[in-house]
Amino acid sequence: MAKVNLGKMDCPDCTERVRVKINEHKTLSYRCDECDSNGYRQPGTAAYAAWEKKITRDTAPAPAPKPAPVADPAPPAPKPAPAKPAGSLLG
Ligand SMILES: [Zn+2]
Repeated sequence: MAKVNLGKMDCPDCTERVRVKINEHKTLSYRCDECDSNGYRQPGTAAYAAWEKKITRDTAPAPAPKPAPVADPAPPAPKPAPAKPAGSLLG
């Protein structure tokens, strides 16, 4: 899976707005075209959380979660047929 754009934040070095991407491992990364700095943050770290706060998320409409299919109410369980008396056919 390729990296996907997550949003933008200020470059830590020059404050230019840089695009932050996230990969399949949830690792954030950026590369600044202005000062050529780059970096990444791995999830679960304090630095990662700090980046997340700084990132302005893209406003692209997120795919709306599909509503969960409404389950049909379960039909009442059929009553078990009354057991026929054993041997009734044989008299
Ligand atoms: Zn920069």
